[in-house]
Amino acid sequence: ERFITSELNAREENFEATLRPQVFADFPGQDRVKERLRIMVEASTNRGEALSHILLCGPPGLGKTTLANIIANARGSGIKSTSGPVIEKPGDLAGMLTGLNEGDILFIDEIHRLPIQIEEYLYSAMEDFVIDIMLEQGVGARSVRLNLPKFCLIGATTRQGKLSSPLRSRFTMTCRLDYYRVDELEKILTRSADVLNIAADTAGLHEIARRSRGTPRIANNLIRWVRDFAQVRRESIITGPVADQALTMLDIDKDGLDEMDNRIIEAILVKFRGRPVGLKSLAVAVGEEEGTIEDVYEPYLIQEGYLLRTPAGRVVTNKAEMRFGIKGIGGDVS
Ligand code: ATP
Repeated sequence: ERFITSELNAREENFEATLRPQVFADFPGQDRVKERLRIMVEASTNRGEALSHILLCGPPGLGKTTLANIIANARGSGIKSTSGPVIEKPGDLAGMLTGLNEGDILFIDEIHRLPIQIEEYLYSAMEDFVIDIMLEQGVGARSVRLNLPKFCLIGATTRQGKLSSPLRSRFTMTCRLDYYRVDELEKILTRSADVLNIAADTAGLHEIARRSRGTPRIANNLIRWVRDFAQVRRESIITGPVADQALTMLDIDKDGLDEMDNRIIEAILVKFRGRPVGLKSLAVAVGEEEGTIEDVYEPYLIQEGYLLRTPAGRVVTNKAEMRFGIKGIGGDVS
């Protein structure tokens, strides 16, 4: 479980911070996104103005938080980080905004989970750098306008579709992060092995990269597991076969799909006999939360060509049928 969930405990956070690259040069992959961000940073530096607001979208663990910090670093500006569900009252937001310095970045992770009444305060903050706060309730109610420093909002979300359109339209730049290629994950793992002092050969790193669901966070977690495995088996170095055995033990198969991926495909093929399935039914059938299926599992299965989202529901592809040697015929499975 800990390999894919986005909820991190303190120890994991600490570990992530150790491996988090500080500069674009140490951040492999997402070339088009990096290029755009570099240009924005350079232009805003030359003009001496705050960066314009940026929205980063994509599945968990692809580097949204990391990029926000790299941007701040490259721009030489301060950054304050928070997350949508943490901001409960307008006052929380106002406090954070008024505490910023001119040109600072405010990073809001999971920005789609901001309560709507708080989101509305953001509109004027983003557009005009002012915020109108209501003082008192009832008859004594009056609103006070606070001027804010010119700041840059970087929002991160696992799904752009969940964002309201007024909020979405206030971001000047929207960047979608994609799953990483294997060679990019190899680069990331090479650096991680270096930082963590882990001995691994190219074949070993390749095997881990190949089976990390295109996700740096998973790659970084798996390499630690493989290290533990190698140590207990008294292997001095992570080789291809060592990595293979370690990952197989975690039920990560040769195609890099994990147990839940397989359960999802199998449920559609067998339980639902290949008929289109709604998200709710699927979630119940596999015993996983709808949100996690939608944000974590489906995007990867879709990108790998196992699954399709259709208006009627989720369906599996030929590739999935061939993998299981079962044909979803929409009727009896014999
Ligand atoms: P979430 O949405 O769950 O917060 P995220 O997209 O913000 O995830 P990060 O926290 O930035 O992801 O990244 C997770 C881990 O993966 C970090 O340890 C980070 O260092 C590493 N990582 C992500 N992308 C890269 C990359 N391109 N190069 C090197 N390391 C990366």
